[in-house]
Amino acid sequence: MKELLIKNGLLIDPVSGEAHADILIEGGRVSRLARSIKPPPSCEILDAAGLWIFPGFIDVHVHAREPGAEAAETLESAARSAAAGGVTSALLMPNTFPAMATAALVRKYRRRAAKLPVNFYFSAAATAGRSGKKVSGLEALKKAGAAAFTDDGSCLPRGLLSALLKKAAALRLPLMDHPEDLSRTGCGVINAGPAARRLNLPGIPQEAELLAVLADILAASSAGPIHLQHLSLASSVAALRAAKKMGWPVTGETCPHYFTLSDADIKKDDADYKMKPPLRSPADRRAVLAALADGTIDLIATDHAPHEARLKSKGFKGSPFGIIGLETLAPLCVTELLLKKIIGKKRLAELLCLNPARILGLKKKGRIAPGFDADLSILDPRLQKRVPEVFVSRSSNSPFKGRSLRGWPAATIAAGKIIFRRA
Ligand SMILES: [Zn+2]
Repeated sequence: MKELLIKNGLLIDPVSGEAHADILIEGGRVSRLARSIKPPPSCEILDAAGLWIFPGFIDVHVHAREPGAEAAETLESAARSAAAGGVTSALLMPNTFPAMATAALVRKYRRRAAKLPVNFYFSAAATAGRSGKKVSGLEALKKAGAAAFTDDGSCLPRGLLSALLKKAAALRLPLMDHPEDLSRTGCGVINAGPAARRLNLPGIPQEAELLAVLADILAASSAGPIHLQHLSLASSVAALRAAKKMGWPVTGETCPHYFTLSDADIKKDDADYKMKPPLRSPADRRAVLAALADGTIDLIATDHAPHEARLKSKGFKGSPFGIIGLETLAPLCVTELLLKKIIGKKRLAELLCLNPARILGLKKKGRIAPGFDADLSILDPRLQKRVPEVFVSRSSNSPFKGRSLRGWPAATIAAGKIIFRRA
């Protein structure tokens, strides 16, 4: 494989911190880091002067919509969207049609994904057929290459939690939960609060999330590790903080929309603001920011959830839940977290690279260091532009369209190959 030398960039490693250094890549791995490296003959050179180089972002929450909703996204379009967003690895969610619930399906889609420039890992349904009725054949799914278990889209059934946690722990694969007590959500479509009243829409009460978070934490305290998906509430992050203080094996993620927006930003009945959990109150948003800063939240994931425009045009009541997120991940993190001094660059590298690599057990990813995979996410901290109306993704259901953001990806490198470069 051809060598690649990246010169003059500012490296941000989640362990060793920031350094101006050149990166020599050979055979898809980082082979050398030094203040100035003389290019070997016939080596490709990328000048990264003025740019920030992070380890490739690892997004543990992506819906690529295959099989079943290819009009909204395919593995190919999701890979292009990820590359354009600086994401070099992603964990795909199993709530597809049919659900990613059998070893044969996991094998089939892993084979399809192997040809793509981005590393796609597949989570498999934790319960058989994602039905919530009984535990899946987890050993067979692991053997087929499943990288995690979750019923995302639905909450893990409380009656099976303990059994699931024990089995996943024995198999050494992460168990992830979408914490939502559906009996509390009812027909709600937006956070219960002033916005719901103003727009006359049925609300989703906060306890729908909190009750499930508390049940997950309690089960994990005795049965094994759990990862809490897309946390949105002050009370959820307070519970996660308390669980960690107790030394219980609980980790948690949030998404850029929960630290950027609140329900006060929903001005009209526009389903580009509809997702699960819903945008919460301004106080919840502030609590999520604090939990990102103090180490309570382990990682940022996008919950990239593409939907066709014809489905998303029917307002809060008639449209499906979910927004896309891959292409706005980097500039939202730079604009909302770094420029506003909520966290520093090293902590951002923990949230987007190191901690997701640890949760997925990816030992050669998440850092920029000799011997690690040459997956890199290169950002331009000066580039300010508006979020476009049309995305690389097949879908464009984003509440951020038209918003001016800074810190867009300049280039993305996976296994030593340039898979995205800003024109
Ligand atoms: Zn979910």
